Formats: sequence, structure tokens, C-alpha cells
Amino acid sequence: MKTVFLYLLLFLAHTTVIWAQNLSFASHNSHASHDYIGINPTPETVAQYLSQKLPHTHNKHIIWTNTLVQHQSFADYYTFEQQYEGQKLYSSHLKITIDKKGYVVWINDNSFAVNEVRLPAPARLSTTEWDTEYLQDFLAQKKAIEKMREKVCLLDDKQQLHFAYLIYAQDQHEVANVTAYLFAENGRLYHSQDVGHYNHCQQQSTAALATAMVFDPDPLTTAQKVYGQNNQYKDRNDQDATELNAQRHQVDIEVTEENGIYWLKNDFIEIKELGSEPNIAPVQSSIPNFDYLRSNDAFEDVNAYYHANVVRNYVNSLGFENMTNQKLFIDTHALNGEDQSKYVFYGFDRHLYFGEGGVDDAEDADVVVHEYGHYLSDLACPGCNTDCGSNSERSALDEALCDYLATSYSRRNYDFNWENMFSWDGHNEFWVGRNMDNEKHYPEDVANSYYQTSEIFSAAMIDVWEVLGYETTDKILLGALYNFTACMNLAEAAEQIMLSDQLLYDGQHEAILYQHLSGRGLLNYRRPNAGNDTTVCLGESLTLGESVIMPADAELFWSPGLTLNDSTAAYPIANPDRTTEYIVTLRNPSTNLTYTDTVVVQVDYCLTSPVDTIQLLNTDRFLKGRGDLVVSLPTNTAQATLSFYNISGQLLRVFTYENPSEYLMFNGDMMPAGVYILQVKADDVRRVFRVAKAR
Ligand SMILES: [Zn+2]
Repeated sequence: MKTVFLYLLLFLAHTTVIWAQNLSFASHNSHASHDYIGINPTPETVAQYLSQKLPHTHNKHIIWTNTLVQHQSFADYYTFEQQYEGQKLYSSHLKITIDKKGYVVWINDNSFAVNEVRLPAPARLSTTEWDTEYLQDFLAQKKAIEKMREKVCLLDDKQQLHFAYLIYAQDQHEVANVTAYLFAENGRLYHSQDVGHYNHCQQQSTAALATAMVFDPDPLTTAQKVYGQNNQYKDRNDQDATELNAQRHQVDIEVTEENGIYWLKNDFIEIKELGSEPNIAPVQSSIPNFDYLRSNDAFEDVNAYYHANVVRNYVNSLGFENMTNQKLFIDTHALNGEDQSKYVFYGFDRHLYFGEGGVDDAEDADVVVHEYGHYLSDLACPGCNTDCGSNSERSALDEALCDYLATSYSRRNYDFNWENMFSWDGHNEFWVGRNMDNEKHYPEDVANSYYQTSEIFSAAMIDVWEVLGYETTDKILLGALYNFTACMNLAEAAEQIMLSDQLLYDGQHEAILYQHLSGRGLLNYRRPNAGNDTTVCLGESLTLGESVIMPADAELFWSPGLTLNDSTAAYPIANPDRTTEYIVTLRNPSTNLTYTDTVVVQVDYCLTSPVDTIQLLNTDRFLKGRGDLVVSLPTNTAQATLSFYNISGQLLRVFTYENPSEYLMFNGDMMPAGVYILQVKADDVRRVFRVAKAR
């Protein structure tokens, strides 16, 4: 089985691209910010903020328009597009994250600079001329039927705006093949892209409870067998086998009853024949019971429906309802016998197609949850799962998060062979599946196949899962999906995992996440190394820091800075006058995330032999108001006094110490600047000094 994600819209993507003239795509930037915008701002307030923050993306004709608001308990996400006269600028997309204290934390910006834009000239063809003559000829040649159209604006590389249409056309013979064509209003074709099947019927439903028999998660995992063991546990072209049917478990499912007939559908998930071959009608039952043997086509319907609903309810229970609130249609017998599954959407509906080549894909919860993961990612950030050019790792990232979710789903109940991703559908005579327990490292193990590349990130998340458990790790990953962007690479995604923990858990799991993501090479920002704790003698200096690796745009600083020659140097020189803990901080300016390390420098007075006379130490720092005066006393002194006189011999202050240590620390903060005569008395020994304090 191979899984395929096809995505409508935005940016340069796979499949046929016909260039009649160059189309401009929005440029990708991200900005961290710590601007205060207010708690729960209105979309209008946010739009106003954006036009000030990104003035080049906004003018009196082209304005930021809000299209989606996602309120979460830990942050709010606002999605915008640039519009001209109410029409979206094709490929513009902006998402802004605002924390619950009202601060902007992140702006994911795919926008056009519009200062120089030329407004559309009147079209040479009227809409009717274009539609009836040109478009109809074009579709006839393509053997396609128009299913939907959307009016947009496009910008060409000469900064000229055009009114345009996105036409969704379906192949006359295969309904799962749909292509989007972007035509300027003057009839010129700018872009085309495969998008898949379209269907927009929605039905009202009445909920009912039914029982069903399913694999959970798959027959090999629950039987603790490997594929083909003792010549059993094999697919055998979807036939019944006692050992396989014995692995079915009884579960409850929520279904819909219509006039005494029960259907596998609810408001959000529906099993349906979507028109892709083979055409097998969805199961229906006259009693609220869906008990079928695995050879029955109904079994795949029940299995896919059950697992999709369990994941959906679980994701909702974690607080991510806005990732599951669009209707999903599932066809469990599709793709003409291919051994693959795919998630497809355009328009407003989402579709899952499961192929039947090899093991029927819908019999394996790993496949169902994986494909459902694409749906979650799509709803969390519409328009974000798009590769940009050949070096992009965005597809690998989506595969990784889907594999992670599927593994987390089955491993939370069964540890047996958990590392086999697609336990039943893969790891057999049909295909090898994927492996979640690997030592892959970024970026060396980035491969041509994005499926292979994905194993770096999914395995890293499973490493985290082993420490934090499924619920916390799932939640951190799901929270990060809102900020996954088009064109993103795996390292940028790892930063978003760190940021998600900040927003959800106040950074509580930073150390664990850091250990595993950085351990895989996935964080561009490494924790700086402040060096090993050490001891110096008073007056000596030393160089701090060891192998501080800094990305080009990083900001680095040390504190406290008072005893450093340069607190922003990678390796500053320190001259501490007392034991000091130095903190080095590396900050990523595009996410505001910081990485820190500390080093303790202990300062000793380094007197070699037992003291038998009274001495004053540290007088120069005392003079500058930067350190204590240190008075060394003979060993076993019973009582010491410090008497301060002014320069004319008048007694000012007396301090008495019983059983003082050999190094008496005198903090002179209460003494005004001046020159003093200090008499030190230790039992019957006495000495007189002149000390000064400049501030
Ligand atoms: Zn996939």
C-alpha cells in the first residue's frame, strides 16, 4: 500500500502544469512577534494589525480578509487571505497565532507584495464568450465535465492582476480524477492541478447505537502473530479464515437510522460509494447490528467507520473539535484494485478512498488512522500541506505525523510489533510497510522518497511518546498542526513542536522534547553549551562557552553581564569577584523560542597556608562598589571587630563578630563613598588600614 495525499490549490505542486504566461505564487515568510494585540481580538482588529505590520502586502484595493478563526484553550488562530474586490488572490494565505495573554506569537505568511500591483484591465473576452466558446471546447478536448467554479484573482509575474476562474472538471470515465484549471477571465490558462473527487451531498441524520465486529487494531497485533505464521494469518484474497475471523472484536458504534434501516453515517463521517471502481454499495442493516465476516465487503465499511469515529472522538476529547468538524466521506472499495489509499478534497467536502489490492486497506486501523491524520492536518491548517519545489519536505512531514498518530493509536493498547507501521496491510508479500523504530538522523537520512524521509520525524515523535505517553505527545503534535505551513521542512516543524508545548503546557516538556528532537538532528537551534563548572582564584579571568553552534539569524546573550567583557559574544571573558552562575541564552527570532545553558564559576581566595595575620582582600572591587571587602583573620579568632574612622580620626561605625570564619565578608553597601581608616581587631591582634570606596 502506498498512501497518497492530493491537495487542492496553492503554490507549485505536482502534476501537469501548463504555463501560458508566468503565474506569481505568494512568497513564504514567517515572523515571530511579541506584539500585544489584546485578548480575544476581533478579526477586524487583527486585520488592522496585519496591515500595519506588513504594509507592503496591503493597499487601498487589496485588503486582508479573515476566512477562519480557530479558538483553542491555549491559543487563537486567525486565517486570512488577500482579496481584491471580494476575490481571493490565488495562493495568498496568512495565519496568525495569538496566545491567551493577547500577544502575537507567530505569523505564517504566504502573501504578495502589492505596492506595485497593476489593477485588472477590462477582459478582452466577455464571460459568456469565454464560457460558451472557449471553455466548452477546452473541456470537450479533455473529455471532462465542469463540476464547480470559483472566482478568484491572480497575479502574473509582471505584477498585473487578472480576474480568473478556478474550474473543477471531472473525468468523464473516472469520477475520482478531478483537475482544477485556473483561467484568467481573458481565456488564458495559467495553471492546472489534479485534485481528486468531488461530491457535496449532505444528509440529515438520526443517531442510533449499534453493535459491530471489527479488527482492533488488526488481526496480527491482537493474535500476536506475524504475517503467514504457520501458513496462517494470510490475506488469501480477502477470503474467510477461522484464525482471522476469530480476531474480530465486538464494539459499539453510533450509526444513523432512516425508516427502519441503519446506515454507517453520522454528521461527520459517512461510508459511501463515491463512484471510484469497484462500485459496491455501502452496507445497510435492518437491525442495529453490523456483524460480518472479513470476506464480506461490509466488513471493510464497518472497520473503517469504527476506527475513524474512535479517532475523531479522541481528538475532540483532547480539545481539537475544529479539526474534525467537516464532513468526511469514506469509500472502502475504491481505486480500481490498487494497493493504496488516498485522502482527497476540493470544494467543501473531504474524501477517503481505500484500495483493495493486497490486504484490503480498510481492514487495518493503521491505514484508517493514517488517512484520517491527513484530514486532521488539512482542517487544522487549510492550504498548508503543499510542497514547494523539489527540496521541500512538507509531504514527508504529513506522512510522518499520520504514521505517528496511527502508531500511537495502536501501541497504546498493544506493544506487540508496534514498530510495524501498517502491521496488517504491509510487512507481507505485498509490500514492506514502514518502520517506526529506527535510528534515522536529520538531515543525512533525507531520501528521494518522502516516505523514507518521513521515518526520521515519526520515529523522533515515538521516542517522545515513550517518555511522555500517548495523550500528552498526541496533544503536543495536534496543537502544532495549526502552525504547520506550506513549504515547511522537518526542522521547522520540530520548532513548532517546541512552540506547541510552550502554548499548551508552558514549556513543561521542553527538556524531553529537546533531547529527542535535537538527538535526531531535527532542531536547527541547539542548546548552547556554557562549558563545565569550574573554580578560579579571585582576580583570575576565564573564557566562558564551548562549541556554541549558532544559526545565522540567532541571537545570543549571557547574563549576568556585569563581570563579562562582552555579554553578546559567543565566548566572553569573565572576571567574577564572587561565585557566579552564568546563563547563556540562544534565541530563535522567528519563533521567540529560547535555549539556555548555565555554568557555575566558583571563586576562591586561594591563600595557600593557614592565615595567622590580618589581611584585607578584594579592596579594588570594594572600591568600585562591585564586591565585598574580605578580611582574613587568624585561625580560631574568638571575636573580631571592624572599626571605621573618618580621615580626621572620628569613629563612625563598629561591627563585632563572634567566632568569625577565617574570611570575614564585609558588605559595604551601607557605607557612603569616601576614604576611611579601618581598624581590624582579632582577639589581641590589631592592624590598621586605609580603605576607599568610590561608590
Ligand atoms: Zn499518507
